[in-house]
Amino acid sequence: MKIILLVLGLLLVCWILRSYRGRLRGDGPRPASGAGEDMVRCAHCGVHLPRGESIVTQGSFYCSPEHQREHPPR
Ligand SMILES: [Zn+2]
Repeated sequence: MKIILLVLGLLLVCWILRSYRGRLRGDGPRPASGAGEDMVRCAHCGVHLPRGESIVTQGSFYCSPEHQREHPPR
């Protein structure tokens, strides 16, 4: 009887792990670099980068703090 409970417990753990891993790999919204995320353009050098990595100042996007400083908004 104990062995049956043990096997059932192991199966349950395996099932939980598999469904958990499937959820991680599967259809969750993952902001992979480039794909699906908004691309913005640096107002100074024109390079394209994901919005999440850009620096926003008064509606303008910059790729780095240096370009933000060199390109004061009018
Ligand atoms: Zn730039």
